[in-house]
This record gives sequence, C-alpha cells and structure tokens, in this order.
Amino acid sequence: MDRMTELVQLLNDYAYKYYTLDEPVVSDKEYDILYDELLDLEKSSGVVLPNSPTHRVGGELLKQFESYEHKQKLYSLSKSQTSEELESWWNRCANSLNVQNFLCSVEYKYDGLTVNLSYKDGVLVRATTRGNGIKGEIVTSGAKTIRTIPLTIPFKGEIEVQGECIMRLSELEKYNKTHDVHLKHARNAAAGALRNLDPKVTAERHLDFMAYSVGYSDIAFNNQKEMVDFLVENKFRIGDFVHYADNMQDIKALLAEIESNRSSLDYLIDGAVIKINEQKYRNELGFTEKSPRWAIAYKYEAEEVTTILKDVVWQVSRTGKLNPLAVLEPVELCGATVSRATLNNLDDIAKKGVKIGSRVFVRRSNDVIPEILGVAEDNGGTPIVPPKYCPYCGGKVEVNGAFVYCTNKNDCGAVHMSRLDHFASKEAMNIEGLSEKTILQLYNLGFIKDIDDIYDLTAEQLAQAEGFKDKKISNILKAIENSKNVTLDNFIYSLGIANIGKKSAKQLADKFKSLEKLQSASVEDILALDDFGEIMAQSVYGYFASPSAKRLIENLLKKGVKIEFKEQKEGVLTGFNICLTGSISIPRSKAKQLIAENGGSVSDSVSKNVNIVVYGEDAGSKLEKAKKLGIELWTEQQFFEKIDYKG
Ligand code: NAD
Repeated sequence: MDRMTELVQLLNDYAYKYYTLDEPVVSDKEYDILYDELLDLEKSSGVVLPNSPTHRVGGELLKQFESYEHKQKLYSLSKSQTSEELESWWNRCANSLNVQNFLCSVEYKYDGLTVNLSYKDGVLVRATTRGNGIKGEIVTSGAKTIRTIPLTIPFKGEIEVQGECIMRLSELEKYNKTHDVHLKHARNAAAGALRNLDPKVTAERHLDFMAYSVGYSDIAFNNQKEMVDFLVENKFRIGDFVHYADNMQDIKALLAEIESNRSSLDYLIDGAVIKINEQKYRNELGFTEKSPRWAIAYKYEAEEVTTILKDVVWQVSRTGKLNPLAVLEPVELCGATVSRATLNNLDDIAKKGVKIGSRVFVRRSNDVIPEILGVAEDNGGTPIVPPKYCPYCGGKVEVNGAFVYCTNKNDCGAVHMSRLDHFASKEAMNIEGLSEKTILQLYNLGFIKDIDDIYDLTAEQLAQAEGFKDKKISNILKAIENSKNVTLDNFIYSLGIANIGKKSAKQLADKFKSLEKLQSASVEDILALDDFGEIMAQSVYGYFASPSAKRLIENLLKKGVKIEFKEQKEGVLTGFNICLTGSISIPRSKAKQLIAENGGSVSDSVSKNVNIVVYGEDAGSKLEKAKKLGIELWTEQQFFEKIDYKG
C-alpha cells in the first residue's frame, strides 16, 4: 500500500473514532501531524484520493439519529500554527481584497462539539450536530436540557445559530468523582452527552453552549459585530473572549493574551479563531470545499498527548501512604519532556482502566506533574497491583479502600524523610537551604532522625555533609534559628497531620488561636469548622492525642520554638490578593508578612484572581502576564507608600 492510501485509511479510521464514536485513540497532535503529511503529499503529487479527509468536513452520522440537512453548510477551519502561517493568510486576504488593513474578530476556539440550532417564530425547533457539514444528527431533546440554549428567542424569523457545546472542567471533575467509569476528555464527554438518545444523560453532564455565529437567516448582517450583538439581544451566551483588531501586531497581542488565559479557563480551548469582520469581504473571499477563506484557526501547542505507561512506582508519603506514580515512555508535552504522571490511588487506576503497557492519554495539569486521563485503546497490558512490601523500608503494606499504607510507618525511613522535608519546607517552618538532598545526607549521617533533631544540628555536623562550606553552614544555622519564631498556622501545617493542608491549618489557627487550645479541642469542636468532615476532624484529634506528637511538640518548645498567633488584620489591603515578582529590597518573607499585617493575601502566581502585582527589578513573565490581564501594577515604592512602611 502506498503512503498516501495508508494515511487516508489511518486518518479516516481515527476520524471515525473521534467524530462518530466520540472515543479518540490518538491525540489531536498525532492526528494533525499525519494530516499535514497527507496534505503535503497531495500538494506535491497533485493527487487527491476520493475518500481523502482533506476535502471532507467531520465524520459519518450515527444511524440511530434522524438526520437533517442544514440550511447552510457548516464548515471546518483552515489552521495556522506559526506567525508566518498566520501572516501569509493575512497577506493572501489583503491581496485578494486589495486593501491593506481589515478588521478581524479574535475569539476563543472552543474544543467541544459544534451544534446548529434552528429557530422559527421565536421557538427552538431543532438542534443538530455538524455531522459531515451538509447533514447533521438531530439531537434536539438533549440540547433542550442545556440551560444556555434558549428555548425561545425574541427574534421571530427563521434562523440557524451555530456554536460549541462544551463541558466545563469543573463539571468533568465532579462527574468523575461520583461515577465508576471516568470520562477522559471534556470534549468527548460533551460530544458523547449530546449524541445520546437519553436526554437525562445530557442533563447530568451540565453542558454549556457558546454561540459564535449565525448561519442561515432571514435577516442580513453587515458584519460580525452586528451578528454578535444580535446573539446577545436574543439571549445567547456568546464566547467569553471576542475582541477586534485591524492589524497583525494587535492580532498577535490578542493571541498571546488568549494563550496566557488558557491554563486558568474552566473549559478547553485549542486555539483562537480569527474572522474577517465585514460581510462584503467575506462574500468576496468565499469558501474552499472545506473551510471559509475569510477565517483561520490559530492553534496553540497541544496540551494532550498519548504515550506508553511503562511502570508504576510507589512513593511513600509523610503519612506512610504509598502513592502510585506512573513511569511513562518519555514524550514531548508543551515544550517539555514528560516521563512521570500522577495516578492518585487504586480507585483512580480502576476507574481509568490503565494497565502497565497501556497507551494512555496524558494531559498537562496545573500541577508540575501531568495527569493521566485514561487509556487510548485497550490493548491488554498487566494490571497495576500495589506492592506487598514497602519499597523503602520493606515493611508490610496494607490496603485500606483506595489507599495503600506502609504499616511500619514509625520506623519507615521514607516516612521520616518526607516528614522532615515537609517540616522544613517554605510554607511550613521555612528553613531555607535545608533541601531534601541535605536532609537525606544528614539523615544518613545519623544527625537527624526526628524532626526536633534539626534544632540540635551543629556546625561540625553540617561540615561533614557534602559541599558544605562555612558560608552555607552559617546560612543554614541562621535559617534554623530564624524558623524558631513561627506563626500558629505555619506550625500546624509543618506537623504534617494527615489530610491537613495549608488552608485547613489556617482555619484551625484562626479558630483556636493557641496551640494549647487546639491540643485540647474535641472532635466536635473541630467538626464545627467549615469544610471539616469526620475524617479531617479525627485526623487532627488523633494526631494531638498521640504520645509521639505530644513528645515532639514538647521537645520543639523546649528547644526554643515560639509559636505566635496573629489575628487576621483589617487594613488598607483587606480584600486584595497580591502577587510579588522581581527583586525587591526587602526579603520576600518580610513583604508577605507586611501584606498579611495589612489585611491582604498573597498569591504565588498571576491569575485573574490577583488584584495587584507588586514588581521589582528584573520582573519577568509574571509581570508580562499581569499586563496582559490588565491587573493593577505597583512598584515597590507604591506598595510601601500604601501601607505606610518606612523600613
Ligand atoms: P477544527 O478544529 O478545524 O475547527 C472548526 C471548528 O471549530 C468548527 O466546527 C467550530 O465548531 C469550532 N469552533 C470553536 N470555537 C469557534 C469560534 N469561536 N468560531 C468558529 N468556530 C469555532 O475542527 P474540525 O474540522 O472538526 O476538526 C479538525 C481537528 O479535529 C483536527 O485538527 C484534529 O485536531 C481533531 N481531530 C482529532 C482526531 C483524533 O483522533 N484525535 C480525529 C479527527 C480530528
């Protein structure tokens, strides 16, 4: 079989699984690479096979649905992935239109299912999928369960409204928490929900509809702006990002803005769509067989790839829990090589159906380690089972529900190591320089075993660790000494109580205000806190009741640790969430303390939840992102003036 026939068959098979079955077996990136190879072959040979996907929109229709011929064809979009490709589209349009500049809309490119809504006399009469562009499947009863699809509209003529059905990522997460079989992708989950004969299934997935265009209509629009206004007047939810620009430079700035928003959105976008605003220009440029010439998609780097799950390693946490971590065949994802991915627990493994040897979908997540979404294709493999013995200390392992524990947790070295590491970490006691590597060395040298041994470390002992010279030693000793003055919430967090993160530690501190009161609190007292359930309350109570915790706290206090409770202050920064970037003249910890003392809160990253970014010299990407998001910017001086800080 020649390469062209092979590519056509492969792509048609992938497209069938993606469009018709809503069960893709390769990532979009892998599909696009093969598609581009076929396009190149077709261009160089001048041959296009009759069943080539390059001149067809979408896929086959499902037989169980009635079909409907759209009043106006629904198209795909041609795509660009680089500035050059985008510029050459712009130049082609400018040449054909014989103009230098033209206004374009720049919008999010939603990654969901295209839906065409037909209204007559102000009533929704039909909802159809895009299907093959000419005919779509009728999915009206499912579509009617979507709250953002209006059942009636003020406009009384005949009209078809096009948009994208999406499932929000938060909805997907909620769904997966409460169902035995996981939904892999928000895109396919939305498509599968709508292309389902039972409207209850559609309703359960809480889809949204983002309207972006009017296809067939009784009335004519002069431009995209008028069309969008019409959609708003008729109670449609239009996309969250619709901006206009009339030159390449401004378009590129909007594309950069979209890209920086991408990771904080609650839905998937795979790019942006750029459309020429004026209808007269659109008429002049027309369509190819597959897509309009007056619009183009700009695709961002794929956030999802497939690769082989080679193995699972079990990492021992500070609570003695063994967490499974997937070892992957290294793969490129968003510019980085990825070889590890999160698998949360045994339930997660079962729900996702992953095995050793499976080809899996891996997606970039907000955490450092990407997550596994599920298997691409069930091709056998070895089931993942927890080890019988702790990989670190050899102690017996116990399985409790979805979780796996080392039963030897009082003596397991890995548990000690991660407890020590957690205690010294930035958000806990903040002992700068006491890294995981250093802790391991000092542990192996026998200088620290229990947490409070940190406060007995001497310069002579530190000098025995690799790479420790005078300056480093004095810095660490200074950091250890400084850590003795600690706020109550940081102290609670540093103890590493199971199920107690930073936020819950702060809640406990705010409620009990002193360590003594917290130590003598009952389960009921703790349960009274917002978001605290039985497991968390028992965990806190059980921790403080245990002799080993009592001993540890006593020793820490004896060795000079002073715990202070700071009442959340009302101040000039109350209600402000502030992010610091670049180098400022006071230590970060001091700046954070000043923000808290003045009633503000601190965020480590820039997102739309941040109100102010305080920047110093050499501020980099955070400052850029803040500018793009239009966040208020303060210099260090403005910050000091605001809080009346004189140094
Ligand atoms: P497309 O990605 O080429 O874009 C066209 C679609 O974009 C429209 O139908 C529309 O629904 C949507 N869209 C979203 N927001 C929009 C907006 N603001 N304005 C206008 N349109 C908007 O779509 P396509 O032709 O359906 O699909 C091609 C892509 O699908 C490929 O590039 C590939 O990544 C993916 N695909 C993947 C597989 C797989 O197996 N993984 C198989 C087939 C196709």
